[in-house]
Amino acid sequence: MATLSTDVLVIGGGATGAGVAWDASLRGYDVVLVDRADLAEGTSGRFHGLLHSGGRYAVKDPHAATECVQENRIVRNIAADCIEDVGGFFVTTPYDDPAYADRFAKGCRDTGVDCEEIDPAVALREEPRLNPGISRVFRVPDGNIDVWKTVWAMARGAQQRGARILPYHEVIAIHRNGDVITGARVRGHATGEELDIEARVTVNASGAWAGRVADLAGIEGVRILPGRGIMIAMNHRLVNTCINRCQMPSDGDIIVPIHTVCIIGTTDEHTDDPDDHTVLQEEVDAMLDDGEKLVPGFRQARALRVWTGVRPLFEDAKALDTDTRDVTRAHAVLDHAERDGVTGFVTITGGKLTTFRLMAEDTMAAVSRHLGDERPCTTKTEPLPGSEGHATYMLAERLERKEKNLVDEQIICDCELVPRWKLEESIRRRATTNLDDIRRLLRLGMGPCQGGFCIYRATGILHGLDGLSAEQADKSLLEFLEERWRGTWPILYGDQLRQTRFDEWIFQGVLDVEHLPLPQPEAVAT
Ligand SMILES: Cc1cc2nc3c(=O)[nH]c(=O)nc-3n(C[C@H](O)[C@H](O)[C@H](O)COP(=O)(O)OP(=O)(O)OC[C@H]3O[C@@H](n4cnc5c(N)ncnc54)[C@H](O)[C@@H]3O)c2cc1C
Repeated sequence: MATLSTDVLVIGGGATGAGVAWDASLRGYDVVLVDRADLAEGTSGRFHGLLHSGGRYAVKDPHAATECVQENRIVRNIAADCIEDVGGFFVTTPYDDPAYADRFAKGCRDTGVDCEEIDPAVALREEPRLNPGISRVFRVPDGNIDVWKTVWAMARGAQQRGARILPYHEVIAIHRNGDVITGARVRGHATGEELDIEARVTVNASGAWAGRVADLAGIEGVRILPGRGIMIAMNHRLVNTCINRCQMPSDGDIIVPIHTVCIIGTTDEHTDDPDDHTVLQEEVDAMLDDGEKLVPGFRQARALRVWTGVRPLFEDAKALDTDTRDVTRAHAVLDHAERDGVTGFVTITGGKLTTFRLMAEDTMAAVSRHLGDERPCTTKTEPLPGSEGHATYMLAERLERKEKNLVDEQIICDCELVPRWKLEESIRRRATTNLDDIRRLLRLGMGPCQGGFCIYRATGILHGLDGLSAEQADKSLLEFLEERWRGTWPILYGDQLRQTRFDEWIFQGVLDVEHLPLPQPEAVAT
């Protein structure tokens, strides 16, 4: 069996794991990062898109609010190219307790969240679709953050420093020698081959799956209570500012404009299974009703897609055993040398996407203890690749580029303005035949048509490049369509029903996708 050896093995390629890999490589350690799927396909790729200002937690969780505001300032600087500075409003609607607004303002003052009360008329001029009945408005520095760009920028940055990044490599066993963890065995999904990775320290950054990975290491009591939440993307930006209800955090109270769409969310339902992606019709209905409270007419806009993410809520069963109940929404670094007497193993879980950098820094402090070698953290100031200019992303950037090159450039995805050269370059760079991998990199098929017009073009290009067989290209197309369909069927009403019928004519009527020749099973494995 093939083997690799490294200083730090990171299990989990979400924002946290990629953050740890980036931090460790900047400190000069050799790193291997593995994920059972593509990078940021777990909770990170299923989140709401909000770079928190801290306002949401200013009353309920002051510590989290302060962490968010501090990290918001840092992340804007180091990951500028991944962030759009849309700003945020907290608005008191006719449905909210008016007394909360004063508590909110005080909470922001106490926690350091930048917050300015503005006249509702000013807010309505900026956001004319907002409920005209709003009575108080606070402006905060919310933003949106493109998680795939962020995670891949960290992975690329780590790679440039020698890290090995292995998506689609699942940890199936953790090697333990007495009270020392010495690495893990992974299985590559593409080939089915197994690989042993020897590591001086193994970091369990597997989010909502962290309990399962700790179990593989024979470590008890890392209990994750997954909290499932749904979000719905609407077909364009009904607002251009992040809009939060000024109330205690609740369901369906935030709309985040991001790229060409806006997203309403979210819910929080306990589930026993981090892979539970159930969407209930009543949740969808309640979410759309909540949208109406913020933006009257919300239901008449076209809902594009619904999806779920699972929060990694950590509960330390060891603490429960000793009757010191410890349930937290903040992040938790478990140094298993201190907690369990097991060296070479550190778990990081909980937290928020906004605080991924801090989570990585705290994790690396524990890793350094295991390595017996303290090296300074530089992630507060070191820009991610692509963000060296420290200029935040502007929505119009792709259009501006296109307008400079109107005639020559063939556009493949009209909604997200993805040109052919960019698509070809990304397919080659990722060396992938999976259109969903490309979607996450380029937002191909993520705009209002959800792939209706671009994905068969992209499939043809995929087929033309690098000798991919027609059958394999067909398979990729079908998998993409199936994944999109999962997010569409729970919201089939009004215009989206019409759009879906139209897509059906294209894919079933014209292309007859259900009867395309597919690879034989043995051909798939090669
Ligand atoms: C509905 C919802 C909305 C949210 N909205 C926001 C928001 O707007 N702003 C914000 O700041 N935060 C938000 N959060 C929180 C945020 O998304 C998470 O805290 C964050 O993404 C967790 O990142 P992570 O890297 O720790 O976990 P993940 O992104 O889940 O990464 C863990 C990785 O481990 C991998 N893995 C699991 N098992 C194995 C194995 N055996 N081998 C290899 N790999 C494995 C998984 O594939 C996964 O990619 C939201 C959360 C939810 C659920």
